[in-house]
Amino acid sequence: MALFQEFQKTTQHLSKQRQPHDDESPILSAEGLSLRYESGAALEGVTFELRAGDRLAVVGPNGAGKSTLFKIIAGVLPPTEGHVYIFGNAPRGHICIAYISQRSQVDWSFPVTVADVVMMGRVGQMGLFRNPKAGDWDLVHWALEVVGMTHLSKRQISQLSGGQQQRMFIARALAQEAELMLMDEPLTGLDINSQEEVFRILDDLKERHVTVLVSLHDLKIAAQRFDQVMLLSQRMLGIGTPGGVLTPENLLAAYGGHLHLVPTENGALALGDTCCGDGEE
Ligand code: ADP
Ligand code: MG
Repeated sequence: MALFQEFQKTTQHLSKQRQPHDDESPILSAEGLSLRYESGAALEGVTFELRAGDRLAVVGPNGAGKSTLFKIIAGVLPPTEGHVYIFGNAPRGHICIAYISQRSQVDWSFPVTVADVVMMGRVGQMGLFRNPKAGDWDLVHWALEVVGMTHLSKRQISQLSGGQQQRMFIARALAQEAELMLMDEPLTGLDINSQEEVFRILDDLKERHVTVLVSLHDLKIAAQRFDQVMLLSQRMLGIGTPGGVLTPENLLAAYGGHLHLVPTENGALALGDTCCGDGEE
């Protein structure tokens, strides 16, 4: 925490574009979010709040609306109905939000280095037309250190493994000094070691009081590794502890017949979606 605050001090002069924060308000408040694509409804009436430092996993089957929800919160997609407030304000232009999209939605052949991408996190803070200053580079190097990628800073992004790609994006969000990170399927396609590395970084973020919203399609990981989960299937079927939310009734409502329900000591536990991921490798 101390190191992070130190860096924040060195960059306070860069923070003029920050939206005013009402510290009494939740960091995120979603009210009645609905979105209809031409193909039909993707999200209906989703209402919830996050307080600073919360870590919530959003789970649900393929097509449940997880990515759609994250894009609305990030201000990338306007909802058909409802509102998002970040510290009591509309999300647009909020540089304290970092949105880390699914890796499959990125052009990995683009010829830039890891450090270039992490520096892109500074653009919102420093403006498009100013060259990075020493303080910006300090933040970039610090962010790379947090995710254990200092030695890869000059590597082209086309040469990264899946786990390294994910860690690079987390570094970019750190360099941005994001207070709310939206990570869409950060574990999908990663091997066990890379998944553990992401969890290590998530724990680090919790210590820094960064609020994190993660989407997952692996229910077992959500149940074992997160204190708070939301079950989404177009509508929000529940939010709270995994035990309270991932009940057989809720899971059946979300997944229908696509689910393995396995009996455990404290009731049935769903082991996962029989579908694959979202077209990831
Ligand atoms: P998830 O991330 O949970 O898999 P998505 O938010 O990607 O779900 O998708 C929710 C629903 O919206 C799905 O039925 C999907 O086919 C549809 N959808 C997603 N993006 C678009 C789009 N750009 N245009 C039309 N339909 C879309
Ligand atoms: Mg998705």
